[in-house]
Amino acid sequence: MPPDDKTPRIDWPVSLFLLITPAVALASLVAFCLFWQVTWQLVVLFVFFSFASSVSITAGYHRLLAHRAYKARSWLKHFFLFFGAGAFQGSALKWAADHRIHHRDVDTDSDPYNIKRGFVFAHIGWLFYKMTLAADMVGDLQKDRWIVWQHRYFLPVAIFSGFLFPMLIMALWSDLGFWHGLCGGFVFGAVARIVFVHHCTFFINSLCHMWGKQPYNEDNSARDNFVLALLTNGEGYHNFHHRFQFDYRNGVRWYQWDPTKWFIGMLAVFGQAYSLRRVPRTQILVAKMALKCKSVRITSPAISARLDLLRRKVEAAQERLKECSREYQVLKRNLRRQSRAHLVQLKADLKIAKIEFDKTYKQWHLCLRAAHALA
Ligand SMILES: [Zn+2]
Ligand SMILES: [Zn+2]
Repeated sequence: MPPDDKTPRIDWPVSLFLLITPAVALASLVAFCLFWQVTWQLVVLFVFFSFASSVSITAGYHRLLAHRAYKARSWLKHFFLFFGAGAFQGSALKWAADHRIHHRDVDTDSDPYNIKRGFVFAHIGWLFYKMTLAADMVGDLQKDRWIVWQHRYFLPVAIFSGFLFPMLIMALWSDLGFWHGLCGGFVFGAVARIVFVHHCTFFINSLCHMWGKQPYNEDNSARDNFVLALLTNGEGYHNFHHRFQFDYRNGVRWYQWDPTKWFIGMLAVFGQAYSLRRVPRTQILVAKMALKCKSVRITSPAISARLDLLRRKVEAAQERLKECSREYQVLKRNLRRQSRAHLVQLKADLKIAKIEFDKTYKQWHLCLRAAHALA
């Protein structure tokens, strides 16, 4: 019987790739270490390609494209599209569509990596099934021709970025000859690195919904976990992220391990990333306060009443702050618009005054000449 539209179908190429690459990575790593020398260039290659492909997922696919948490210069977007393809996690368009659905429908049947279906499903199992692109979720991204181009030519771009490029670099760079470089590039720059980045990223969908604290929100399974932040380039502060998904930071405190946040911040210093979105500190504190109020048990009725009163006062102050901030932004925008209009008007007045001056001066001069002529 042919499968109907709702029967999940196995995506064989993706499934085989995900199952075979760990075995190939392990076997080739052992064989390479036994028969060839692991040079410092290979270590640098592994670190660079791991970071480039991982940050292209976390800072690029995730925070820039899926959440629009900041804006980036076009070279940076191209960097993310190129190295993101080399991470072999699908096109940016498909990745962002799935991720937006995950945030909207977290922990439900329509969540693509629903943790309620178990660790294995959320970690890797969901990728074994064919899924169509939810185009309606990424209408904004489809207006960008380079994102659409990467989606259309994903496979050749991924093969070049993920395999051929590191192999070529190493073949030209290795001190121990072409074949040492080519094979080393395959093991360290491609297959082992792909498997490493794969599973580190996959932890965000699995363990980050299972293990850790929930300081900002208990309505879904997302959790904050420092150990996972170490493995996921800072994405381990997932409870904060699910509560405030448009913030460019996941580790919101300055000391929280979030290299992706530092990377974006550094780019912003040099003007390559801009319009970074931050949730106001007060809003974060109110979210934490609301959760604390639910969990803390106070035995004294007097203290409980006092705490309640203070909480309401804090919430009212926060509302007032939000209102003021909104008004301030509107006024600032209007003032800017008004001063622009004022400047245009002044320029026109200046031009008219200059013409008037020239005209009257000319008249005076003509008059003077006439007076000389008569004298
Ligand atoms: Zn999540
Ligand atoms: Zn997200």
